Amino acid sequence: MVTGTRSPITSEIDFDAEGQQVGFLRLPHSVHRSAYGWIPIPIAQIKNGDGPTLFLMSGNHGDEYEGQVTLTKLVQTLEPDAIRGRIILLPMANYPAANAGLRTSPIDDGNLNRSFPGDPEGSVTQIIAHYIEHVLLEMADFAIDLHAGGSSLHYLPTVLFGERKDPAENATILKMMRKFGAPYACKFARSRANVCSSAARRQSTALITVEMGGSGTVSMDSLKVAEEGVQRVMASFGFLAAPDVVPAPSTRILEISSADCFLYAAEEGLFEPRVELGAMVQAEQVAGVVHTPQTPWKPSTEVRFKTSGLVICKRVPARVERGDCLFHLGTDLSI
Ligand SMILES: [Zn+2]
Repeated sequence: MVTGTRSPITSEIDFDAEGQQVGFLRLPHSVHRSAYGWIPIPIAQIKNGDGPTLFLMSGNHGDEYEGQVTLTKLVQTLEPDAIRGRIILLPMANYPAANAGLRTSPIDDGNLNRSFPGDPEGSVTQIIAHYIEHVLLEMADFAIDLHAGGSSLHYLPTVLFGERKDPAENATILKMMRKFGAPYACKFARSRANVCSSAARRQSTALITVEMGGSGTVSMDSLKVAEEGVQRVMASFGFLAAPDVVPAPSTRILEISSADCFLYAAEEGLFEPRVELGAMVQAEQVAGVVHTPQTPWKPSTEVRFKTSGLVICKRVPARVERGDCLFHLGTDLSI
C-alpha cells in the first residue's frame, strides 16, 4: 500500500502488483454525517510485467466529461494480456468536484489544476494535488491529462503542450502530441507552477494536456478524438501487446503567441458572438456584441479581437460579466 510522502491518502490498490486492480484512493474526511469517513477517489491499474508507466487522468476539472467517459470505458476494456508495462487510470481526479458536476470542489472551492504541488496537510483539493504530483506522477513516465471546455467554454479538439529544458523530454512530448493526433495542437508558454503540467515537469514525466469539446457535453466526435488519441499514444510507446490503431491524422500546430490571444468581456450583459469556433480572424475584427436588455435603449458594445489567429475556444453561456473569457485564439506555428 502506497501512502505517499506524508499523504493522508491510502490506496486500495497495490501499484506493484500484476494484473488489473480497481478500487479507491481513500482520503480521510471527518464531517458531521461521517466522523471517521473517507472520500472515495476511484482508481484502476493494469500491469503486465516490467516496463514504463502511463498515467491517464480526467476529472481534473469536474465538469469536463469527455475524458471521464474515455477512461471509464478503458477501465472496462483494457485486459492485462493486451498491455505491456503499467497503466494507471484516475477518471475523477478531483472526485468531489466531478461527483458534483462542478469545475471546482464543493468542499473547499478548490480548483485542482491551480493547486499543485499541493499540501498533504492542506485542504481536500490540496491533498489530492499533492498525491497526484508526489505519488502518481512520480511513478509515471508518460501522462495524459484529459480536459475539455467544461460548463463555460467549448474547444476545438486540441492537444496543449509545453516546452521543457531537457531535449529528450521535449522530444517525447512532441512525439506524444503528434501521435495523439488531435486536429489541433497548441503550444503554451511556460505555465504557472500550480498547474498539472508544471507538476509533471517537476517529476520529469512527459505530459500532454488534451482539450476536447466542452459545454458540459459528451459528443461522438470528441470521444472519437480522445479514444483514438489515447490508443495511439499507448501503441506508440509500447504499452499495447498488439498495436492495431488508426494512423494519426495530421495536426495543425498553433501557439498562444501573447496574452492578446485571450479576449475578455469588458462589461456585464448578453454576448452575441459574430464568429464561431474554427474561424480565422483578424486584429480589430468584431468578435461579438455585448447587449444590456435591462436598458435596451443603451447602445450595445462591440468587442474586437486584439490580434489575428484561429478561434480554438469560445465561451458558451450568453450571460457575461466583466473579466469572462469570450474567445481564445491560436496562431500558426511551424515546428
Ligand atoms: Zn479543464
